[in-house]
Amino acid sequence: MGRPDTTLHTEVAVVGSGAGGAVTAARLAAAGRDVTVLEEGPRSEPDAVAPFSLEEMATKYRHRGLSASLGSPAIAFAEGRCVGGSTEINSGLYHRLPGELAAEWARAYAIDGFDPGTLDRYAAEVEAELGVSRLPGPAPRSSAVLEEGATKLGWRAVEFARVHRYEPGGRAVKQTMSRTLLPRAEADGATVLADCRVLRVRRRAGRAVGLDVERTRPDGTRQRVAVLADHVVVCAGAIQTPTLLQRSGVRGVVGTGLKVHPTIKVAARFGEPMEHDDVPMHRVTEFSPHLTIGGSASRRGHLALALAETGLDATEAMADWEHVAVYYAAIRSEGRGRITALPGAAAPLVTYGLTDGDLSRLARGLVHVGDVLLAAGAFELHPSIVGGPVVRDRAGLVQWWDAVTRRRANLMTVHMTSTVRMGEDPDRTGTDSYGRVHGHANLYVNDASLLPDAPGVNPQGAVMAIASRNAEHLLATL
Ligand SMILES: Cc1cc2nc3c(=O)[nH]c(=O)nc-3n(C[C@H](O)[C@H](O)[C@H](O)COP(=O)(O)OP(=O)(O)OC[C@H]3O[C@@H](n4cnc5c(N)ncnc54)[C@H](O)[C@@H]3O)c2cc1C
Repeated sequence: MGRPDTTLHTEVAVVGSGAGGAVTAARLAAAGRDVTVLEEGPRSEPDAVAPFSLEEMATKYRHRGLSASLGSPAIAFAEGRCVGGSTEINSGLYHRLPGELAAEWARAYAIDGFDPGTLDRYAAEVEAELGVSRLPGPAPRSSAVLEEGATKLGWRAVEFARVHRYEPGGRAVKQTMSRTLLPRAEADGATVLADCRVLRVRRRAGRAVGLDVERTRPDGTRQRVAVLADHVVVCAGAIQTPTLLQRSGVRGVVGTGLKVHPTIKVAARFGEPMEHDDVPMHRVTEFSPHLTIGGSASRRGHLALALAETGLDATEAMADWEHVAVYYAAIRSEGRGRITALPGAAAPLVTYGLTDGDLSRLARGLVHVGDVLLAAGAFELHPSIVGGPVVRDRAGLVQWWDAVTRRRANLMTVHMTSTVRMGEDPDRTGTDSYGRVHGHANLYVNDASLLPDAPGVNPQGAVMAIASRNAEHLLATL
């Protein structure tokens, strides 16, 4: 970057305003610290666009949701890019990090102060602040069918809690970061700057000294901003955090070890309307944590995308689309991936390699999804397999075992983790036990990148509890 147009000074610069960044900013600001949050994406009024709409994808997603890891098969993935990050666009499903996993990670990666009791304490605090609730009334049909199908098969299914609050009158309001912790941080004196893409972390002699930022003005012109900071906390998400660190010349275990929950989908046609305004909150947990079955956003555009994959005539596939909803099987994967910042390109190269075992688990998951949906009354199932066989009865499901191949399976994920793992061994981790980048006195990571593995449950609860713990530790050392 040449000469900046503007120079700002702050005590703590936080990059990114999602689950990790908002928690970090709120904790530091509440303790009276001078905090500036730099967010690449725009700020919009919470109700400006309909949740799970294509307009939301155009305004709040990075690349309108069209990113993919390369590999065989490629895996489509989505990231939030707006004030509040992925919490603005996610389904709000909430899960604490399972205690046995915390204990296992602490042992395997030598993470200090990472016992289940401590993490639960931070999780309870976050839950009390945001509000975590279950439905006050009956579930939408798209959700209830999962429970009904599972009951018929004798499988376990539960309604997952969500970070929602119910208004008088029953409207569910997702407690995203732009509605909760970011305004709280601002009330405590933090500054949140939207439309500010951090290009690199300025470093000198093992210290971060600030950020080079490109701000997009409302008229679309760009301005160069230098942010001089005593401490830098990078919370740009598991894809962008290692990209930014690599671009800034940070070496070490940064960008390797990407973990995701690979997901395979089925669009199911029922004999009744499916209520598409909300995503299903029920999950079939019979095979958890290694395999989870749930439901996705199923508005008209999502259905068109899902049904296009079968290669059937589009008009025929979209007939009675109100009766169709999309479901998925997500697995814990043995595979792993890598993020590589490319010189001169804004987006990194993302690769992910599935193992043969992963593919076989995905095929098993797809068949289980088919089983539960047929038991729930679905009469036509379209798998996310290129030219995949449409199935109408249980006997037909057997065709899917051989159809889930590296060439034909259409996979996606919204849970990316583990690209800058935490722990005490610098040969295996990118930061220490509390997110401080190895070899740097005042440069931190505090987001999904730190999780040593994909947790097998929805990750935002783990991201927030860990971010809260690390922010408290940082405060104690400032
Ligand atoms: C569609 C979708 C649905 C999901 N559903 C659920 C769910 O129901 N439950 C659940 O637990 N989890 C869900 N998740 C995952 C969850 O939202 C993430 O795990 C969590 O938000 C990760 O937090 P984070 O702070 O690491 O990143 P994010 O919340 O993604 O925040 C990162 C922020 O950093 C900003 N940023 C990136 N690079 C830069 C840069 N260079 N300069 C400035 N800013 C930058 C981004 O724009 C973004 O706003 C979902 C995710 C998606 C995408």
